[in-house]
Amino acid sequence: MPNLVKFGLRSCYTLYWRKLGPVSTLQGTQIARRYASKYVKNDTVKVRKNGEKSINKVSGKFISPVNKCPEIPQAPCSPSSEHQEKKSLVEQTKILQTEPLTAGQAVAHFATEPKPLQEPATTGDDRKPPKDEGKDSNRLYWLLLAAILLAGGVGVLQNYNVFDREPSKKAADEEEKKKKLRVPLTSAEIPKEVPYLLIGGGTASFAAFRAIKSHDPKAKVMLITDELEMPYMRPPLSKEIWQNTDSTGKLSFKQWNGVERSLFYEPDEFYLHPKDLTESTNGGVSVVRGYTVDHLDVVQNLAILSDGTEIRYGKVLIAPGSIPKNLDIFTAAPLAVQNKVTTFKNIVDYRHLLSVLENAKSVAIIGGGFLGSELACSVAKIGTGKKIQVFQIFHEHGNLGKVLPEYLCKWTTERVREEGVTVMPGNQVVKAEQSGKQVKLHLIDGKVVIVDHVVVAAGSEPNTLLAKKSNLELHSELGGYIVNTELQARSNVYVVSTCRDIVFI
Ligand SMILES: Cc1cc2nc3c(=O)[nH]c(=O)nc-3n(C[C@H](O)[C@H](O)[C@H](O)COP(=O)(O)OP(=O)(O)OC[C@H]3O[C@@H](n4cnc5c(N)ncnc54)[C@H](O)[C@@H]3O)c2cc1C
Repeated sequence: MPNLVKFGLRSCYTLYWRKLGPVSTLQGTQIARRYASKYVKNDTVKVRKNGEKSINKVSGKFISPVNKCPEIPQAPCSPSSEHQEKKSLVEQTKILQTEPLTAGQAVAHFATEPKPLQEPATTGDDRKPPKDEGKDSNRLYWLLLAAILLAGGVGVLQNYNVFDREPSKKAADEEEKKKKLRVPLTSAEIPKEVPYLLIGGGTASFAAFRAIKSHDPKAKVMLITDELEMPYMRPPLSKEIWQNTDSTGKLSFKQWNGVERSLFYEPDEFYLHPKDLTESTNGGVSVVRGYTVDHLDVVQNLAILSDGTEIRYGKVLIAPGSIPKNLDIFTAAPLAVQNKVTTFKNIVDYRHLLSVLENAKSVAIIGGGFLGSELACSVAKIGTGKKIQVFQIFHEHGNLGKVLPEYLCKWTTERVREEGVTVMPGNQVVKAEQSGKQVKLHLIDGKVVIVDHVVVAAGSEPNTLLAKKSNLELHSELGGYIVNTELQARSNVYVVSTCRDIVFI
C-alpha cells in the first residue's frame, strides 16, 4: 500500500509540475512541499515570526501576524479574486494549524480542492477580472489529480475488500434468497395441524419418520427444516463427495464398492407435497423446507414459525442438531478476514467451499479432529484434479489426538501428510489479518501461514435456541436439553440429537 500511495503521489506531482510551471510563481518543489505539508498527517505549516511579518517556510508566502492573511506578490488576479484566495488560504492555514489531516482525509480533501479555483466574485462596481487561463488549467489538473487519487483509493480499498458486506447483511440476503426457493412458497400451504411434527431435516428426523411409518404405515408426518434440501447424509460431505466432484457440485458419491449413490436418503417422489398431506388417505411424509421453527407453546401444543405461522401438533420431535463453532480470533477479525473464514456443516457450506477453491491455491483448516482431518485429505486430493495447498493447524500433537492412542495418532498423522497435507500440530492461530486478497495467520510458534481461505473445524455446540425460546429446561453445566429416559422434555415433546446435546434425568 505505501508503494501504491507513493506512486500515485509521484504521478500527480509530475503531472502538476509539468503543466503548472508557466502559470505558477512558485517552484515545483515548493508546490510539492506546500501541498504535501497541507495534506500529510502531522506535517503542519510552520510559521516563523519575522518582525512585522511571518514567513511560511513551506510555501514561501508572507503571512501578516495581525490578520494572518498571506500576501501573494505576483498573483495575477483582480483585488477581489486575490481576496478570495487569501480568505481561502487563511481558512486552510487555520485548519492546518489546528487539525492536521490524516492521509485518508487528505484524499477526500483533494476531491473538494477546486473550491479556491472558482471564478472570482464580481466587485461592487461590476468590474470583471481578466480571464485567467492559468486558473482554468489549474482547475483541470486539480480535477485530474482528484480523479486519479479517488480511482487509486477505490482500487486500494477494493483490493483490501473494504466494500465486502457485513456478515449480518449477508445473512439477510441469504434469508431473502431462501424465501424464493422454499417449499411451499407461502406458509398458507403448510398444514395447520399434524399428528407428528419433526423439527429438523437431518439424520435424526429421517430415522424418526422411518420408525413412525414402520409402526403406523398410514401416519401423517411433517418435517420442518430451515435448509432448502430434502433430508440428506452429512458424513460424505467431508469424504467421498470430494473425489466424485465436478465443478457443478453434484450431490452424489461413490461408495467403497464403486457404486454411485445420492446424498439424499430418499428420492423426491417419496415425499408428499405439504399441501397434500392433510387430505392424504394413506398418510405420508412431507418436508417443509426453508422455514424455521421459532419456538413451541408446549401448553397449547403449538409450533410457531419465525413468520408467526402456528402449527398444532399431536407429538413433536425436536431434532435441531448442533451448531459448528467458530473461533474468537476470527469472529473478532476485520470484516475482510471474516469473509474468508467459513465453518463446514451442510450442503451450502460444501458448495461454497467448492466454489471458493475454484479460484484458490491454498486453504488452512483449523482443527485436528475427524472433520478437520477428513476435509484436509479430501481437499488435498480434490476430484477436479486441481492442486490446492492445504495447511492443517491444531492444538493436539497429532491428527485425532483427542480420540486415538499415541501410536495410532502418529500413524494417522503420517497418512494425512502422505495425502499432501501440511500438518502443523501443537499449534494455534494467535492473530489473523488481511494480506492483500489473502489471510495471514500468525501461529503461536512464530510461523506465518498465508492462505486464500480458512475453514474452521473446531467442534460444535448444542443447538438449544428452541429450548431457550420455549422455556424448556437445559442442563446448567452441560448445556444440553434435559429429557427423561423416553427422550421426553414435556408431554408430547421429545428431543433427540447427538448424545452430548441431551442430558438424561
Ligand atoms: C461434514 C460432516 C461429516 C460427518 N461425518 C460423520 C461420520 O463419518 N460419522 C458419524 O457418525 N457422524 C458424522 N458426522 C456427524 C453426523 O452427521 C451428525 O451426528 C448427524 O448429522 C446428527 O444428525 P441430527 O439429525 O441430529 O442433526 P443435523 O444433521 O445437524 O440436522 C439438524 C437439522 O435441523 C435443522 N434445524 C435446526 N434448528 C431448526 C429450527 N429451529 N427450525 C427448523 N429446522 C431446524 C438444521 O438445519 C438441520 O437440517 C458428520 C457431520 C458433518 C457435518
